[in-house]
Amino acid sequence: MDVKKIYMDANALLHGHFKLSSGNHSEYYLQSAKVLEDPETARLLAEALAAQIRDYGLEVDTVCSPAIGGLIAGFALASALGCRYIFTERVEGKMTLRRGFEVKGDEKILICEDIITTGGSAMEAAAEVERLGAQVVGFAALANRGFCKREGSSLERKPNCKLPENLPLFALADFDFEMYAPEECPLCKSGSQAIKPGSRGN
Ligand code: ZN
Repeated sequence: MDVKKIYMDANALLHGHFKLSSGNHSEYYLQSAKVLEDPETARLLAEALAAQIRDYGLEVDTVCSPAIGGLIAGFALASALGCRYIFTERVEGKMTLRRGFEVKGDEKILICEDIITTGGSAMEAAAEVERLGAQVVGFAALANRGFCKREGSSLERKPNCKLPENLPLFALADFDFEMYAPEECPLCKSGSQAIKPGSRGN
């Protein structure tokens, strides 16, 4: 499955000068919502991801996504795995399980994002379900931004990856684009100004 082509065909691989949620700058931005606006594409991507997870032999009771980014990918993955689906959301900045969702003590939870960058939001969702007694057994995303190591990839883990080394990360592709600290960003140095994706019609 050529995930990069799917993102390009959906105009979801944006080229420009972007400020990412981590504060770093990049020449590229992945807008997964544009890929997932087609439910059939969402289903096909999720089935490919579910096949990886089954082949690995991972037992999953529940998929949990951090809102908003992971919602659609997580729902599609849970549907493909035939398991339960819940999500966490931020309440005054803190990732929280709301809406009457509960987890059981022995429940095996897979955290699913659309894209894993350093894994910050995924780890906040993981911490919340573990605080409530469940067990996080792995992480999944449609694509990996190249900081964390996914199963089956030769790309090595980088120091800013926040995911634990002892749990698997499943993703369909590595999108290994350069990211820059604002003070070192060559695009800033050339005089352009970074925009925050989502703030100006993208
Ligand atoms: Zn910049």
